[in-house]
Amino acid sequence: MLERGEVANSWRRERWDSLRLLTPNWQSRLPGLRYDGLEPDGYMTMSEVTEFIERFAKVSGAPVRTGVNVTSVRQSGDRYHLTTSRGEIAARTVVIASGACNQPAVPALRDAVPPAVEQLTPFGYRHPAQLPDGGVLVVGASATGVQLAAELRQSGRPVTLSVGEHVRLPRTYRGRDVLWWMAEAGVWDQRYDELEDLTRARRLPSPQLVGTPERATLNLNVLTSMGVELVGRWAAIRDGRALFSGGLRNMFSLADLKMVRLLDTFDEWALQAGRDAEVGPPERFERTRVPDSTRLQLDLGSGEIRAVVWATGFRPDYRWLDVPVVDAKGQLRHDGGAVDSAGLYALGLPVLRRRKSTFICGIEDDAREVIDHLTRYLATRRGHH
Ligand SMILES: Cc1cc2nc3c(=O)[nH]c(=O)nc-3n(C[C@H](O)[C@H](O)[C@H](O)COP(=O)(O)OP(=O)(O)OC[C@H]3O[C@@H](n4cnc5c(N)ncnc54)[C@H](O)[C@@H]3O)c2cc1C
Repeated sequence: MLERGEVANSWRRERWDSLRLLTPNWQSRLPGLRYDGLEPDGYMTMSEVTEFIERFAKVSGAPVRTGVNVTSVRQSGDRYHLTTSRGEIAARTVVIASGACNQPAVPALRDAVPPAVEQLTPFGYRHPAQLPDGGVLVVGASATGVQLAAELRQSGRPVTLSVGEHVRLPRTYRGRDVLWWMAEAGVWDQRYDELEDLTRARRLPSPQLVGTPERATLNLNVLTSMGVELVGRWAAIRDGRALFSGGLRNMFSLADLKMVRLLDTFDEWALQAGRDAEVGPPERFERTRVPDSTRLQLDLGSGEIRAVVWATGFRPDYRWLDVPVVDAKGQLRHDGGAVDSAGLYALGLPVLRRRKSTFICGIEDDAREVIDHLTRYLATRRGHH
């Protein structure tokens, strides 16, 4: 196992200070290691996640070699040849577990932002004091965007949030964590080969959720009440002005509708599974409030906006992979983790084999099946020699 940094590198280096997991502690489990602390319903801070993963490295006895950067993987014959910062390695099989979120995905608009406006991504952002005083435009209203918008607003800054397609979820539903429902009702176990639209499922933004000791819901209504101004999707920059799409009303009703449909399936499941008495009564939530008027443009040269925070998602980095298995969008071509090149495998990508694939609790089932495939592959190869 080669790791360019330290164990739990992404949690140490690529997250902001206040971040906590959005998955509850009881859901933090890896093969042979479960959360055994006092707050199963709490959410881990970054140092707690790092400790948890370090503990797993010890418990599992995984042969981790840290400080080894893989700079190239090439195929020749029935082998892969790896070039690393510590020398060459040949292997019959390679499992790519390099992560799905190695870099922030920032739209090309960034190049047209006037130089007087500071730009940050979640990889560079640590805490509000880092930003210049004054207004902040946060772009993207998924988990990262809503969390950073709330934190920046609480620091006293005027915050504008540019909202595109998003997934709204309550933190708790009928007294249970919404992720308890997703797990129990079988949503997270839905398999990649049974989904109606796998491409869409793989592209779905993260839900508007935050992990706080209060188990608070963080949605657009909460942000509006805090004084965050909502604008539409950032479509273009013209003459130094940011232009936003209209149609917030439609976007909000779509997200509300999808949430209600999901809650309906939870209610139905509880009834059918005989679990109805175990949970509180069904709840319905206030619709997302549409501002009376929304601005369609913002002059980036006026000094109103001093910084832009791009919370527009993350993407993997395969610049080190010299096997032609990456598509035009920068994603690996694979079928449930079996990459389009014999002997090459992947783990930890969105909906790799199940909806839960990119979450900590999702790796166990996926790894078992991918490794089964890998051992069968090696067995047939052995038959050839
Ligand atoms: C902001 C954010 C919040 C998240 N919150 C949650 C959450 O609340 N709950 C949850 O379950 N999941 C969460 N996730 C998803 C989380 O990323 C996964 O659960 C998990 O960390 C993925 O682990 P991984 O090992 O697949 O990838 P990573 O954690 O990205 O690890 C990949 C490792 O590969 C190393 N690496 C990459 N390229 C190379 C190379 N060329 N050579 C050597 N080493 C290399 C990296 O240094 C890194 O340590 C979150 C993700 C993000 C980005």
